[in-house]
Amino acid sequence: EQTCIIIGASHAAAQLAPSLRQQGWEGRIIVIGDEPYAPYHRPPLSKAFLSGEKDVDGLLIRPAAIYEKNNIEFKLGARVEHIDRAHKTVTLQSGEVLNYDKLALCTGSRVRKVTLPGTDLSGVHYLRDIGDVEGIKQHVAEGKKAVIVGGGYIGLETASVLNKLGMDVTVLEMAPRVLARVTAPELSEFYTRVHTDEGVTIKTGIAVSGLEGNGHVEKVLCADGSHFDADLVVIGVGIIPNVELAEAAGLEVDNGIIVDEFARTSDPDIVAAGDVSNHPNKYYNRRLRLESVPNATDQAKSAAASICGKDVEYNSLPWFWSDQYDLKLQIAGLSQGYDQVVIRGDRNSRSFAAFYLQEGKLISADCVNRPQEFMISKRLIAEQIPVDAEKLADESIAPKELLT
Ligand code: FAD
Repeated sequence: EQTCIIIGASHAAAQLAPSLRQQGWEGRIIVIGDEPYAPYHRPPLSKAFLSGEKDVDGLLIRPAAIYEKNNIEFKLGARVEHIDRAHKTVTLQSGEVLNYDKLALCTGSRVRKVTLPGTDLSGVHYLRDIGDVEGIKQHVAEGKKAVIVGGGYIGLETASVLNKLGMDVTVLEMAPRVLARVTAPELSEFYTRVHTDEGVTIKTGIAVSGLEGNGHVEKVLCADGSHFDADLVVIGVGIIPNVELAEAAGLEVDNGIIVDEFARTSDPDIVAAGDVSNHPNKYYNRRLRLESVPNATDQAKSAAASICGKDVEYNSLPWFWSDQYDLKLQIAGLSQGYDQVVIRGDRNSRSFAAFYLQEGKLISADCVNRPQEFMISKRLIAEQIPVDAEKLADESIAPKELLT
């Protein structure tokens, strides 16, 4: 009997394993994950799980019955330490050696750690997994002070939840604006205003130089000499793909594991999917390493097909979302390289869309509480339908008429 091993009990794995059965894989499927949980939704960690609206059971991507029905085996709390491609084995931390015929690398990413004095104080946390949030929750208390280091989506989502939970929240961002890496100044301004109106303090262009306290964190120190009192510090300054296993095994790695449009690595028996993969994208004519659930899920379908000897191309338009307060942001495509921004609706309200054009073509859209514009934008971008900036901005034209 053949064996497919999936490393990482991740978003990608939760799709890949059942997809293997759908594609006709009859052999064993073993998912090995170093966390103690079956695959769970990570986005709610900085949203409904932090706020307490969801518990651990509510995070699970699939009920246990689905895995049982598909005869998918799990080894949880188990870390793969080594891949031997010549002998087709993986070695676990426990010393156990498992044989594979096909291997899927779904190792995702981990938080980027900062090297500052005081990060080992109690009350200082990163945010990537269930354990992190459980740690953060112990320090959530009304009237206490939280400092968020990093004004990306995760930092801002965390700020909005901690604010709702009654904490006094400050966000410290090194760049001149929040969300600088992912979006246009218009959106950064919008979110800065919303957070400020809600009572969150946002400081930009400020570098944290250390944390101070006596066992527990008390102060965040900054390079300009300023400091902020803190009972809780959450650091969210980006992630690093978990490529080390692949690299040590001699697979091609360059900002992620290099795969083709079928999620195949440079080894014909090994695929990779999710945050860890660097893959070609036809819409943008370049290689991408994306950090999103739709990317992990869709790419896993191609990976499953490849393992079964079929060609199912992965070529989805990237999309993302972020929830803060009552605002649902949905992002279609990638805005990098835009030369024109068109706003539809009022940026001072809580519902508008920002369209990003490059040489007259729509390449991306940020839609705040605008689900219709989001759906339409996905099609306008994917099908490269010509757009007219004036019409995009004109609210008297219904969103679906923009398609014609
Ligand atoms: P991951 O989810 O990273 O899982 C990889 C797993 O593999 C981990 O459990 C890891 O511990 C394990 N692993 C790694 N190495 C080994 C090994 N050697 N042996 C065994 N196990 C191993 N995306 C969105 O689209 N929308 C959002 O709103 C959003 N919000 C987010 C909020 C937060 C707080 C976080 C942390 C992420 C958010 N994301 C969001 C990003 C999204 O969660 C990731 O893109 C997604 O989890 C990637 O899935 P993955 O399958 O690549 O791997």
